[in-house]
Amino acid sequence: MFCYQCEQTFRSDEGAGCAGTKGMCGKDAATADLQDVLLHVCEGLGQYLHHARALGATDAEGDRFLLFAFFTTLTNVNFNAARFVQLIAEAARLRDRARALYERAARAAAKIPENLPGAAVFVPASDMNGLLAQAGEAAIRKDAAIVGEDVIGLRSLVLYGLKGVCAYAHHARVLGEERPEIYAAVEHALDLLAREPKDIEPLLEEALALGRANFVAMEALDAANTGAFGTPQPTQVRVTPVKGKAILVSGHDLKDLHEILEATKDKGINVYTHGELLPAHAYPKLKAYPHLAGNYGGAWQDQQKEFADFPGPIVMTSNCLIEPQARYRGRIFTAGPVGWAGLRHIAEGDFSQVVQAALALPGFPEDVEEKTITIGFGRTAVLGVADKVIEAVKAGQIRHFFLVGGCDGAAPGRNYYSDFADEAPDDTVILTIGCGKYRFNKHDFGTIGELPRLLDMGQCNDAYSALVVATKLAEAFGVGVNELPLSLIVSWFEQKAAAVLLTLLALGVRNVRLGPTLPAFLTPALVNVLVEKFGIQPIGEAKADIAAALARAA
Ligand code: SF4
Ligand code: SF4
Repeated sequence: MFCYQCEQTFRSDEGAGCAGTKGMCGKDAATADLQDVLLHVCEGLGQYLHHARALGATDAEGDRFLLFAFFTTLTNVNFNAARFVQLIAEAARLRDRARALYERAARAAAKIPENLPGAAVFVPASDMNGLLAQAGEAAIRKDAAIVGEDVIGLRSLVLYGLKGVCAYAHHARVLGEERPEIYAAVEHALDLLAREPKDIEPLLEEALALGRANFVAMEALDAANTGAFGTPQPTQVRVTPVKGKAILVSGHDLKDLHEILEATKDKGINVYTHGELLPAHAYPKLKAYPHLAGNYGGAWQDQQKEFADFPGPIVMTSNCLIEPQARYRGRIFTAGPVGWAGLRHIAEGDFSQVVQAALALPGFPEDVEEKTITIGFGRTAVLGVADKVIEAVKAGQIRHFFLVGGCDGAAPGRNYYSDFADEAPDDTVILTIGCGKYRFNKHDFGTIGELPRLLDMGQCNDAYSALVVATKLAEAFGVGVNELPLSLIVSWFEQKAAAVLLTLLALGVRNVRLGPTLPAFLTPALVNVLVEKFGIQPIGEAKADIAAALARAA
């Protein structure tokens, strides 16, 4: 196996990358290799769908499969090797169907179908051993000695950005929002990767094109979530448990949460969101359920302790799953793209097993003293007070906005983000998005006038809100986004964060601070390109970075 797609990848003097028998996340070598093969077959599927689309022919099942298949390969999503053998067979079936679709469309247009190269003609073996023997043909570094590290790094950036786009687009799709341009962009990128490009420029262009596609995917997800559950409102969320039977729902899937709330209605079971699903409480149609009792726990890397302490069943709806411990292995369920060998998987949204488990388990024996936090400052809430915000900026009450966004993780150095929030001067506003905020979202940052100084805009899945707010504020002040008194302090961990970064770059946002480490797949030459073209900088020391941001804005 070789994998360096996330921030926690193994690093040594020889370089970075999880190899050997297991990755830092616990992904075993067989699963990692099978994921490579799945992505390779998906490249072939993407090639045919891309060519068919150019002739006006599409296959919705193939399009949707690509989103789901890519989502399963994100960090901390699916660790079940047997599941990948099934997915590879499914990908090959759809690829062969897409080939026939393309050939029919070409003949109908009086054209001779192209003989597509590479992944289009790869024939996957029918069993796990055969597939593992083929994994070398699908490995990201297979021709590193020929094309060089910069090309491998950029192909990786495209592939990992693509995974993020697919994850967002899948979330939107399950709620009925699809955009043909996202499928077109995904298939365009797969067609390019399948051609094993050797030049830097087309890969850089593709990375930015994926950033633009990701903006559409995030817009679709925003439309899906607000269309299904209403517009998020500032909301007080209880973060301490109440007495009674309990279910914990983790990940990001609002549809699964909604189905669980329906399945538990009038059953005397309280439903808690786990840290990552916190924004769910701000949606009117979800918060209307009185038994949506609160948010429990923090970011994903703390789940082994938090899940062990939770006295009911746990449902992992999307990401980020880490190795289930014996103390809760028997009461954790997976859903959607998530998988772990031996865990019970919920198919077709039937959560009745989870309800039974909740009734059989003890639940919380008593109320814990009530504590709440305020969330729900999505674009509508923030833009609803835009006039107050603008006045406060003009009156000098708000000197600067810091958007502290992105993932949390287990690696050292992440206390930078809580230090940053704590050190930010009192006349600055902190906007948060993503898991990094769990390090400080229970601190009291006070207010500026009537505005809380900490405005939580949601999870990584809500990054669209932050971009809309930045764009609208820039319009209101009559400047570009880069001229706003706004600095972006981004922590990354996995591939959705890579996609959001590409979106920021594609939109021309400059001077993003990125940490806690730069992605291992970006070579020094590629980092230089990002520094020169986009002003990307690594994080340093919180106080000094704040001073530098304020000085630049002055
Ligand atoms: S997903 Fe991250 S931790 Fe897991 S094997 Fe890949 S690089 Fe390593
Ligand atoms: S912010 Fe990052 S770590 Fe948190 S859920 Fe989103 S992708 Fe995962």
